[in-house]
Order: sequence, then C-alpha cells, then structure tokens
Amino acid sequence: MIEIPISMTGNIGKTELANMFAQAAACIRSEHQRLTELDSIGGDGDHGTTMLRAAEQMEDWIDNTQSLTDSLKAAGWRVLGVDGGASSSLLGTFFAGMGDVVLAGDAMNCNDLAQSLQAGLRAVSRQTKARGGDKTMMDALVPAVDAVSAAAGAGKSIPEALDDAALAAKLGADSTRDLVARYGRARSLGERTRGHPDAGATSIALIFRGFREGLEKRER
Ligand code: ADP
Ligand code: MG
Repeated sequence: MIEIPISMTGNIGKTELANMFAQAAACIRSEHQRLTELDSIGGDGDHGTTMLRAAEQMEDWIDNTQSLTDSLKAAGWRVLGVDGGASSSLLGTFFAGMGDVVLAGDAMNCNDLAQSLQAGLRAVSRQTKARGGDKTMMDALVPAVDAVSAAAGAGKSIPEALDDAALAAKLGADSTRDLVARYGRARSLGERTRGHPDAGATSIALIFRGFREGLEKRER
C-alpha cells in the first residue's frame, strides 16, 4: 500500500503536532520574563517560571507507541503535573481535553482540529467559572478555539485556521488590558489590574502563535 504523506493531504499527524507544541514552548521561553512581569502586576509573579516548566513538558511529548489522541492526553497530564499554579492546571486540562476527540485515523483534518480544541475548551470550562471578559486566559482561549471552528466551517485549511486562531488569541489577550480581574489571585487587586494585559491570556496568545509557526516548519 502506498502511504500518502500527511503534508500532501493537508492533515496533521503526531509529527506536526509535536512541531506545533515545540514551537509553542519556544515562544513561551522567549517571553517568560514578560510573563513574570505581568503576573507581578496582577498576581504573585510566578507565571513565567510555571510556564517555563510547562514548556519543558510540551517539548517532549512524542511517543511513537501512542496514538495521536493518547499523546495529547499524555502531554496534558505532564503539564498538569507541573509544580505551578492555576495556569498549569488549566493548560494541562486543555491539552488533555484535546485528546478526547474521536478520530477516524491517526491524523486530523481542520474539522478534527476544531473538534479537538473545542473538547479542550469544554474540559477547561468545567474547571473554572471564568468566561470571556473576566481577565483570565479564557479571554484568549475562547476566541482562538472559536476561530478554528469558524475556519473549519468555512472550509479553510489548517494553516489558515491557525492564522485566524493566532490573531484571535492575540486580540483577546490585548483586550484584557482594559479589564478588571474577576478570577484568580489578581481578583483581590481589583482596579489595580486595569492597564496591563492578563499574564495567562498572554501565554495563550504565545501558544497559538507557536502552533502556527510550528506548522510552517513542515511546509518549507
Ligand atoms: P497562580 O495564579 O496560581 O499564581 P499563574 O501565575 O501561573 O498561577 O497563572 C496566572 C494566570 O492564570 C492568570 O493570569 C489567569 O490567566 C489564569 N488564571 C488564574 N486563575 C484562574 C481561574 N480561576 N480561571 C481561569 N484562569 C485563571
Ligand atoms: Mg501567579
């Protein structure tokens, strides 16, 4: 049987996902000081360190004996196991939740990716009551995930969908600048959190930027 390379089908498999996760980790690494700065304003200043630990786990997720969905679950559990705060638990829950998607094979088309991201978002939404507008990571995560669903619905390719998601996450993270925190440690600071973007939302924007850039590596 002739195997058609995934790059020719427009689908992504474990290799592409590993590249996406590795590049997301690289984006986190390069901005970790800024993440700590933002968390120092609205929280306890540990977000950059926690995200560096999460990045380490995101870089090292491929195990060829596992299916794509089990690999996602394993990556999620590793991030969940990071010694950190609210963000690593929520992020790990998101990645593990992405593995709840049901796939026909061991690759994802754009619609599968949308379903996977939505499953991740559902899992996170069970862990926190925070929604858009509460100045948390949800302000970047919800629009990013919805952008992929909209792109899939419009028949776009995965790179196009991730372009849309990266932009939506960035705009969502930027929008938190004008908000007052209603969840997490920043909540007690109230009005003092206005004027700076949320640390966790900024991390999500970096992750989606990394997902997009990681996929580009494959296309070269
Ligand atoms: P901690 O707040 O436990 O110190 P981090 O500093 O690593 O954890 O992460 C802080 C980020 O986590 C916040 O900027 C926010 O985006 C996110 N966050 C914290 N608590 C919640 C929550 N209850 N719901 C959603 N996001 C949250
Ligand atoms: Mg913190």
